Amino acid sequence: MTKPPDFSHIRNIGIAAHVDAGKTTLTERILFYTGVSHKIGEVHDGAAHMDYLAEEQEHGITITSAVTKAPWRDHLLQVVDTPGHVDFTIEVERSMRVLDGCIIVLDGVRGVEPQTETVWRQRTRFNLPALFFINKMDRPGADFARALSSMRKRLGAEAVAVTVPLPEQQAVVHLIDKTILQFRGEQGEVVASAPCPESLWNEVRSYRENLLLAAAEVDEALAEQVLGEEEPETDTLWRALRRATLNGRVFPCFGGSALRNQGVQPLLDGILRLLPAPLDRPPAMAQRAGGGLEEVHIGGDGPLVALAFKVQMWEGRRHVFTRVYRSSLRPGQTLAFLAADGREVREHTTRLFDVDAGKKTPMDIAWPGQIVLLAGLRSATTGDTLCDPKHLLLLERIETRQPVISLAVEPASSSDEEKFLEVIGKVLEEDPTLQLHEDPETGQRLLRGMGELHLQIVLERLQREFNLRLRSGKPAVALRETILRPAAADFLFHPPAVPEHKVPAIRARVLVQIAPRPRGAGLEVGIKPVIKPEGAKLSLEQTTALEQGVRFALTSGPLEGAPLEDVAVELTGVELFGAASTPNALSAAASRAVHKALEDAGAAMLHPVMKVEVVVPETNLGAVLGDLQSRHALIRSSETWGDSVTLDCEVALDHLLGYTTDLRSLTQGRGQFSMIFSRFDTLSG
Ligand code: GDP
Ligand code: MG
Repeated sequence: MTKPPDFSHIRNIGIAAHVDAGKTTLTERILFYTGVSHKIGEVHDGAAHMDYLAEEQEHGITITSAVTKAPWRDHLLQVVDTPGHVDFTIEVERSMRVLDGCIIVLDGVRGVEPQTETVWRQRTRFNLPALFFINKMDRPGADFARALSSMRKRLGAEAVAVTVPLPEQQAVVHLIDKTILQFRGEQGEVVASAPCPESLWNEVRSYRENLLLAAAEVDEALAEQVLGEEEPETDTLWRALRRATLNGRVFPCFGGSALRNQGVQPLLDGILRLLPAPLDRPPAMAQRAGGGLEEVHIGGDGPLVALAFKVQMWEGRRHVFTRVYRSSLRPGQTLAFLAADGREVREHTTRLFDVDAGKKTPMDIAWPGQIVLLAGLRSATTGDTLCDPKHLLLLERIETRQPVISLAVEPASSSDEEKFLEVIGKVLEEDPTLQLHEDPETGQRLLRGMGELHLQIVLERLQREFNLRLRSGKPAVALRETILRPAAADFLFHPPAVPEHKVPAIRARVLVQIAPRPRGAGLEVGIKPVIKPEGAKLSLEQTTALEQGVRFALTSGPLEGAPLEDVAVELTGVELFGAASTPNALSAAASRAVHKALEDAGAAMLHPVMKVEVVVPETNLGAVLGDLQSRHALIRSSETWGDSVTLDCEVALDHLLGYTTDLRSLTQGRGQFSMIFSRFDTLSG
């Protein structure tokens, strides 16, 4: 291919949801109706197309994002299947950074759930236009209107229905076309369209009125028509709704049931009509290496910009998932990027691949808007901005999350030591939410991750995929440290020169102030120093080195060497000593200055506190509440839905280890719970 594809016909979308809402089931339908797969793989049979890792099939959940291409009506959908399980949130966040729009799936019985809120916050952070699919409308207790109102209440989202589900009739009403669409054939692949009968239309009329009002808000001509009770053209309505969706003012909702093959095709049409093509997205902001900001338009003119968003081992080799923003990429090209420690790195891609689920096909060139897999990069990793070596830029870095659970691991036999280190290294490389720590005193190795399930899956993978026999301890909670009062420090870093080794003298001075922040506020690092000598300036490389030094110091506190939390660090002054103030010197000076200040600031331990939602049958409520009390849970609210009760509470993670098993036995397997990390806090009770 020597010509770029028609950008206006591409949709990069993600599908996100609370676990079990039906994301994988919906994705399988999309692949089937678009002709990518010839058979629908069901999650419960362990045959879903997107869940291609053995562990995923076993657990019936989606862990690794995979890119799949699906053609629909002259367009190409690039679907990035993002995992919904709380333990793997980092993957969702990374994927969102490279999407142009998303579909959020809700369970029609349960409406908005805790993980929906997390996904929603991430959507909001990247300003991603979104459509909602209200799934499982075939289930008893499903309520379309209530699901929409949960979106308004819990997300503050302007929810506007485009299709209204009619599960008993295997159909939906289309509110823009005023038709009833029936899904026939063995798997709903035949869509029969007919004008909506009047009696039925009267039932859904109010949804249509809402839709008109919402669309009219962004289109004056349409507003006049609506006020004058004129019937607008279908195309006018689509255009206005699209504008409102791209602005993030309105969230169009489609109803149906993925499992029963209802309502998926109108959603696909909605993606083409309402979600942006890559060129419709606002430009991304990038920092220039030499200082200053630059707008990066997707597909625009100028030197290469691409974002690495995921590293994956494939057939034993390191591969990097990358989205191209500007210019194009070819095999053999030299790429430059600023690594997290501020160094400028140059590497070559050896090969480019087009990715489709578990399959990769070599390609000659990658165009803007495309998501491709690069081979040959040795150190480029998640969050790196890959550039033309003559024009270094830095797109906003993707935050990685702090792991909250740890587990001691060691090879079952000491002869496996070398293999252990090699294999763990590979797994760590792929998964930035995983860390390996060695206790300097006991020599014990701790694997830290996002949750019990996360670590369990990592261990299984080490044993199955790499044939590594392991001994592991019990999961334990990862702690943090914080400070109790403000402090300041001034540190001059000037290690003695070693002339016989020709090590030149290095020197730098850094002044810092630190202060406690409210619980849950996290870390804040400000680098706006007064610089000596007067008139000197910091390069981006030097600033990055200073920040790196500060961040490094914050990885281990004075009490137990745990990472710090809820601390503000302000780097207030820097003294430069010409060529002796290398990035290494600056980074070391910043790090020592912060350590010195920490010693004076008084310290306290913090424990992870989780926001927990427990859903139990009313008959088990007493037992479950009693048990929660013994775990020092703070019950925030409870709500009854039919014969089950939803409890919202806060519990320290220390008291939640093994809760899955305990809840199951308290409720004869009928209770469910989900949790998301809330904050680090001091432990009460
Ligand atoms: P994910 O965790 O969001 O990927 O959800 P899955 O697609 O794995 O679905 C979770 C469970 O819900 C599976 O047992 C599905 O068969 C079931 N499911 C998915 N969609 C529907 C639906 O529309 N109706 C009903 N009744 N069940 C569904
Ligand atoms: Mg899934």
